[in-house]
Parts: sequence; structure tokens; C-alpha cells
Amino acid sequence: MLRAWAADLHVHTFLSPCASRDMSPGAVVRRCREVGLDIVAITDHNAAGNVARAMAEAATAGLVVVPGMEVCTREELHVLTLLPDLSRAAQWDAVVRRALTPGENVPEIFGEQWVQDACTGVISSETALLAAPTRLSLEDVVRKVTALGGACIPSHVDRAAFSILGQLGFVPEGLDLAGLEISRVVGRKEALLRMPHIAGYGLVSSSDAHSLDEIGLGCSLLWIEAPTAAEIVLALRGALGRRVEIE
Ligand SMILES: [Zn+2]
Ligand SMILES: [Zn+2]
Repeated sequence: MLRAWAADLHVHTFLSPCASRDMSPGAVVRRCREVGLDIVAITDHNAAGNVARAMAEAATAGLVVVPGMEVCTREELHVLTLLPDLSRAAQWDAVVRRALTPGENVPEIFGEQWVQDACTGVISSETALLAAPTRLSLEDVVRKVTALGGACIPSHVDRAAFSILGQLGFVPEGLDLAGLEISRVVGRKEALLRMPHIAGYGLVSSSDAHSLDEIGLGCSLLWIEAPTAAEIVLALRGALGRRVEIE
């Protein structure tokens, strides 16, 4: 049966070098519940290392964590990738890891990257360089994520920096995108006025939270049967009665 799920599909944890240090997976999950979310996608930059811990924390919290990652492509644009389950997220993580810019993170420049073990809760530093673009093209990302049964949603398309429209100036045709994300500072109406050519895509609004107090500031109401990546794709495409409501 279709029901409405309040979803924030773009939230970082302290694995992202630019995110606040208090964004442990547990703290993120607790904040999501406080603000009344039903679904959160954990989408760290170029890594999915905290998804398992967030899912473990959410299991008893009445919150669904959709495994995700915000990938920076070689065109220097950000794409939200959502995966069907933890094992597919791990496979995607391995693909992206092989395509990272070689080198180690420099915490003094980019920020700390902390990963929390799903079982033990032990926190350690991720040393890979997550702050730089990957060597994957937008086309690579879409093809590989789609093959894993996941969904691709270019991030914050209304922003000039690191967005598909900012970098390319258009959304290439023939890409199997689930939809597009607009950032929380613009509403649907304003987005369509400013970017009329995106009218053919399903739109989500998310917080892109880098601190706990930003979680849920952008939110989409998903009318779906179950909180899965596949249902989110149907909702973005307006298929089988599924739909997305944003302000
Ligand atoms: Zn981004
Ligand atoms: Zn982000």
C-alpha cells in the first residue's frame, strides 16, 4: 500500500572531510528521528564507510537508512547515488575506491575523515583522499550504479559549484538518471522558473546536511510502497502511482 515517507536523501557523516565532527552515524540517526524523518540516505563524499553503522543504529530507531554516496565525477560534478542494499553499497564503494585520486588525505587542509565500525563502534581515520574528484565520468557512474540496481540523482543542480548544470550547462540526454536534486534554498517553483529545461525530470529536495542542525531542512515526501531505492526511482518518474512531493 502506498504511504507517505518523509525523506532526506542527502546527509553527510563525519566521514566527509567537510562535515561537522559530531556527525557520528548514531548522532545523525537520532537527529533524523527528532526532526520526524522516516528515511535518510547517508551520502558521504566518494565513500560509503559509515552506511553500515548508520543502518545498525537505525534498526531500532524506527528510521530507514538508504545506502548511498555522493560521488564527485571527473567532470567535477556531484551525483547522489542510492544503492539497493548494503552489499551492493559495498561493491560500489570498492569501485569508487579504485577510482579515487591517488594520495592520502591531509586533515589540516581538507578536514578529518572518520569511519565507525558497524559492529564494534570503534572510530578510525580514513586515510584515502576523499576530497578530490574521482576518475569516473558521469556516464561511468550512471552505468555502474544502474547495473548494481541503484539510482543516480545529480546533486544540487541549482548551484554553480560542483553541479551538473554548473559544470556542463545542461543535462545530457540518454543518461539513465532517476531524477535531479534541488538544494533546500530553492523551492520547486523557483527552480523551474530558473531552469525550465529540467521540467521533464522528477525533483527531490534534500538538506545536504554537513552539521546535525541542518538535517531535515530539505525534505521530500515520497509516496511509495516500501523505502527502497527502486521505489524512490518509481516515485521520481511518477510511475505506478508513486510520486514525490516537495515545496
Ligand atoms: Zn555536493
Ligand atoms: Zn553533499
